[in-house]
Amino acid sequence: MWNRCLRGSRAGNTGQYNLGTQSPSSSHHRPHLHGAARIVIKNISLIKRVAKTFIGMDDLLDRFGVSDAHCHPQDDPAGCAAGFASLSARYLAAMGTRLEDWEAVEALSVKEPHKVIPCFGVHPWFAHRHALDLAATLDPSQLLDSPPNGKDHPSRHPDLLARLAPIPPERWMPRLQSLLTAHPHAVVGEFGLDRAAVVPGTRLQPAWAHQLALTEMHLRLASELGRPASLHCVQGYGALQDMLRTLGPEGCPPKIMLHSYGGSVDLIRGFTKLPKGVGDRIYFSFSSVINGRARDKLLERLRAVPLERLLVESDQNSPAGVDPGLRAILEAVAEARGITVEEAAVATTNNFREFYGTCIERMEAVRTAVASDSRDGAAAAR
Ligand SMILES: [Zn+2]
Repeated sequence: MWNRCLRGSRAGNTGQYNLGTQSPSSSHHRPHLHGAARIVIKNISLIKRVAKTFIGMDDLLDRFGVSDAHCHPQDDPAGCAAGFASLSARYLAAMGTRLEDWEAVEALSVKEPHKVIPCFGVHPWFAHRHALDLAATLDPSQLLDSPPNGKDHPSRHPDLLARLAPIPPERWMPRLQSLLTAHPHAVVGEFGLDRAAVVPGTRLQPAWAHQLALTEMHLRLASELGRPASLHCVQGYGALQDMLRTLGPEGCPPKIMLHSYGGSVDLIRGFTKLPKGVGDRIYFSFSSVINGRARDKLLERLRAVPLERLLVESDQNSPAGVDPGLRAILEAVAEARGITVEEAAVATTNNFREFYGTCIERMEAVRTAVASDSRDGAAAAR
C-alpha cells in the first residue's frame, strides 16, 4: 500500500507549473499574452486575499507555524498519497502504535522529510501483541487480564489464544531500537497505560502488569537515547506518576508529553511538581477529538495547565483532519485562557519548539546538508 502511496505522489509532482523558466523572448513576441497573464495573476492574488479573509484560521496556522504534537496520518494511505502541500500545519508528529505500523510511519517521514517527525512505540491497545519474554510468547494468556467484574476469562477464548501469537521480544525490540537509531530526529511514542482498553470481541484487557513493564521499557529507552516521549494514559495517571517518581531524572526522558490529557486538575499539579526536575519535563497536550467530548472538563484542564507546558494536537488518523483539528483546539485554548487565537497559536507553537526542538534541529540539519550537497554537485558539474 505504501509503494502505491509513494508512486502516486511522484506522479502528482510532475504537473506543477514552472513560472520561472519562461524565456524573456517569448513574452517579448507576445505582448498581449503578457498583459493577459498580468490580469490573471492580479485576480489570483485577489482570490487569495478573499480566501484568507474567509479562512483566516488556515492563515493563522501558516503564519505562526502551528504544528501537530500528536497524530496518526499514516492510517490514511490514500490521503498521504495526495501529499501534504495543502496542509497549513508546519510539523506533524506521526505516532507509530505497533510493529506493523512502524514501516508506514518511517515511509511517511521519508516522503515528507521536512514535515513529519517519526515516532515509534507500542500503544497500550496493542500491548498484548508484543511480548517481553519467552514465557508470554508461548502462553498468551499471561498478557491478558480478566475484567474487574470477573465477567470474562482468557480460558473462555481458546480461538483468540490460538491466533494471538504475541510477537517475541527479539523481533520487535531490536527493530524499535534500530528505527530510533536510524532516525536521530525520531521520538519514542505512542506508548503508555490504559485501564479501559478491551481486546475486541471480548471483555479481556491487555494485562496491567505487562502495560506497566512496557511503559517503563519505553521510558528507559527514550531516556537512554535522549529522545522526547509521547504517552497515552487512560485511568492510569496515578500509576504513571509513581513510575516517573521512581525512575527519577536518570530514568526519565528529557521531555514527556501526556497526549489528549484526561486526568484531574490536581494530577496536573502533581506531575509538574515531580521532584528532582522531572516535573519540569512534563507537557500536557490536548485534542478536540478526544478532550472535546466533555467540553467543560476540557476548558477546566486547559486553564489549569501552565501556559508554557501546553501543546495542541489533532490525534487524527488522516492528514485531512489535521488542520481542522488544530483550529478547533486553538479556539478552545483561547476560550479557556481568555486570550486571542493568535496568542494561543504563538504560545503553543513556542512550546512545540521547546518540546520537539532537538528533532526539528536534526530535521533542518539534514535539509541543509542535502541542499549543500546538491550545490556542490552542481558546481562540480559546471
Ligand atoms: Zn494517538
